[in-house]
Amino acid sequence: MGFELTEEQRLIQSMAREFAINEVAPLAERIDRDGEFPTVARNRLAELELTGIPTPAEYGGGGADYVSYALVIEEIAKVCASTAVVLAVHTLAQAPILKFGTPEQKAKFLPMLAGYKALGGFALTEAGAGSDAGALATTAVLEGDHYVINGTKTFITNGDGAGVMIVMAKTGPGEGTKGISAFIVEKNESPYTVGKHEDKMGVRGSHTTELIFKNCKVPKENLLGKIGQGFKVAMATLDGGRIGIAAQAVGIAQACLDESVRYSKERKQFGRPIAANQAIQWMIADMAKDVLAARLLVHNAAALCDSGQPFSLEAAAAKLFAAETAMKHSIKAVQINGGYGYIRGAKVERLMRDAKITEIYEGTSEVQRMVISGMTLR
Ligand SMILES: Cc1cc2nc3c(=O)[nH]c(=O)nc-3n(C[C@H](O)[C@H](O)[C@H](O)COP(=O)(O)OP(=O)(O)OC[C@H]3O[C@@H](n4cnc5c(N)ncnc54)[C@H](O)[C@@H]3O)c2cc1C
Repeated sequence: MGFELTEEQRLIQSMAREFAINEVAPLAERIDRDGEFPTVARNRLAELELTGIPTPAEYGGGGADYVSYALVIEEIAKVCASTAVVLAVHTLAQAPILKFGTPEQKAKFLPMLAGYKALGGFALTEAGAGSDAGALATTAVLEGDHYVINGTKTFITNGDGAGVMIVMAKTGPGEGTKGISAFIVEKNESPYTVGKHEDKMGVRGSHTTELIFKNCKVPKENLLGKIGQGFKVAMATLDGGRIGIAAQAVGIAQACLDESVRYSKERKQFGRPIAANQAIQWMIADMAKDVLAARLLVHNAAALCDSGQPFSLEAAAAKLFAAETAMKHSIKAVQINGGYGYIRGAKVERLMRDAKITEIYEGTSEVQRMVISGMTLR
């Protein structure tokens, strides 16, 4: 992997930065305060052709690489982590269709998602199956031309708006993770109910809901991958997804650094800017160092993914380090901003709440350590 961005990567980065600063940042406080879904930002993302960045152009996507995708997510997360996760999960829903889908599934669903005709989602988690995703209890039973899905998913990002949802369900009860299959569920064709809408600490503009499947009929041609391959589909999807969440965490951490630098130079106490104190300088030095390292880990995992090499360990390491960097330094950023940083409406207050989720979704930090240690010790 080279450390220099290509011309194409730099172009997409600067386009995303301009969009984020000019069009997303002015809405970010309201999106957070009101838990408002970032519709305006979402529609503009589609116009800018950023809604299917790594999906090949033949399927209506951007045909760009995962490094470019990570750059875009970072730029958006710097100003609005909610918009970043809406885009990350929407993009994540395209990956398993590209990797495991039939030619017909790719031709039908990828242009729909990449062109933002439908919002995408990914439904794995259930009340009894979080970190232990293999314990899921939702079932899918083949009846004639359809699978009939029954069960309830929890904490599903884009749950209320998604037109296309990737759903994992048991087709072989008693067969453990080998009894799980993946399905492409089109909301219009296969209606299900959106249940509880979570009121969250952070990423408040992304909507997180329960999904209730009650005799939900899904055409049998919407089975994604082979029967019993669903756990593999889910884990492969999360490998790529972790690059997106790690990039989101880098964006949050970079924003913490930017706010800390700005405020510490402006704020005067004892007759001089607080940045003149070594205690503040060292916090900023540690932040800058960790943000750099986190970004390199993300780009490393993305570059491996782009070159077709294994990247599960590297994606887990990037997500773990970037998430812990975002969390640790968002606390420091609030500290540097003093009382003003603790007040609702302060950017660092929002960053601290947004940072926490990066240590939880798409595998908690403990799960990332399980992935890394499992692969390292094997
Ligand atoms: C805002 C938000 C959005 C989400 N979006 C989605 C989505 O779009 N799709 C989806 O499918 N899911 C989604 N999730 C679910 C998310 O992925 C899970 O919350 C996460 O995987 C953890 O599962 P859990 O909450 O059940 O925690 P648990 O698995 O119950 O874990 C609780 C604690 O125990 C720890 N723990 C568990 N097992 C072990 C172990 N063996 N060793 C050590 N520690 C362990 C965990 O690390 C954690 O600290 C979302 C969640 C949130 C909050």
